[in-house]
Amino acid sequence: MTPPDSIQAIVLTEHGGPDVLHSARVPLPSPGPGQVRVRTGAVGVNFIETYQRAGIYPVQLPFTPGMEAAGTVEAVGEGVTGLSVGDRVTTTETEATYAEAFVVDAERAVVIPASVDIQTAAAVSLQGVTAHYLSTSSYPARSGEVALVHAGAGGVGLLLTQLLATAGVTVITTTSTPKKAALSRAAGAQHTIGYDAFATRVRELTGGRGVDVVYDGVGKDTFDGSLASLRIRGTFVLFGGASGQVPPFNLQRLNTAGSITITRPTSTHFLLNRAEREWRYRELFEAIEAGTLAVRIGATFPLAEAAAAHRALEGRGTTGKTLLIPGR
Ligand code: NDP
Repeated sequence: MTPPDSIQAIVLTEHGGPDVLHSARVPLPSPGPGQVRVRTGAVGVNFIETYQRAGIYPVQLPFTPGMEAAGTVEAVGEGVTGLSVGDRVTTTETEATYAEAFVVDAERAVVIPASVDIQTAAAVSLQGVTAHYLSTSSYPARSGEVALVHAGAGGVGLLLTQLLATAGVTVITTTSTPKKAALSRAAGAQHTIGYDAFATRVRELTGGRGVDVVYDGVGKDTFDGSLASLRIRGTFVLFGGASGQVPPFNLQRLNTAGSITITRPTSTHFLLNRAEREWRYRELFEAIEAGTLAVRIGATFPLAEAAAAHRALEGRGTTGKTLLIPGR
């Protein structure tokens, strides 16, 4: 018999392809001191979960994936101040969110403004924070500069393009289909190009100079071309490996490519404290409210169909954000 306080969750007991993601009943988690339990409204699907599922990033089995979700606080642990039952919150800094409920440290749960719905809040959390820190902290591109953004119709790509374009940056994006190119242009990209010989196209579009910055979340397949697309003393921001991780790299290549600066950031290092977290989310929510940031939810899947969501993400079949919805 199903215990009354169990929930549906996605559990993997072995590494492998999307089919290792199974739906199961697990105990309802209890919030510890300083934590809240959230009834999940929408789960953000992110590439990192495909790396964990496949065993590229180490995780302990059995494992419930998910670091991002939004929902409603339904239980409050000891010592929590500032959050109450019924508050709508979102987070990108917890675990096991592929579930009908999850726990999160109260200080890592951000209250969603009344004007923003739960799915939009889930959709803008990790990818929005990433787009925000890439464009404000990893390399704060300025008005008049030129940026190359790979996967321009992806989750991070669409948000990053909008933030850069709003700041007056000229954005060139790569995309793999005409439909994705159209979405990227609608987000503010001035030029959309394919992946074939993209460095040559970038040189043509910049009069031979190269771009000031490349934001590259595709990784293995684009790395060499990205390096070849930069101006002298340009900045390479490598933030992911949708096509695979970049293999070990000889630093001397940065010298010959033009005294390039390179960084490989990760989101947790850009949410270091409450003030930094609040600043990034505030700016994202304000931009949504002002209508300068559109959050595209490209696809939603029932929670039980997490495998299909992973297949779509890895198969380049998604645009914008992919969400899992419990109870559907
Ligand atoms: P996207 O929605 O951008 O999906 C990935 C896209 O990459 C695809 O849609 C596809 O677009 C493109 N792509 C190019 N080559 C491949 C390939 N071989 N296989 C699959 N996709 C490919 O995903 P996200 O916005 O969620 O994430 C983008 C990147 O950012 C990922 O690498 C992710 O790990 C990283 N990331 C990093 C963070 C950080 O803090 N460092 C935080 C969040 C995400 P197209 O078909 O147009 O080429």
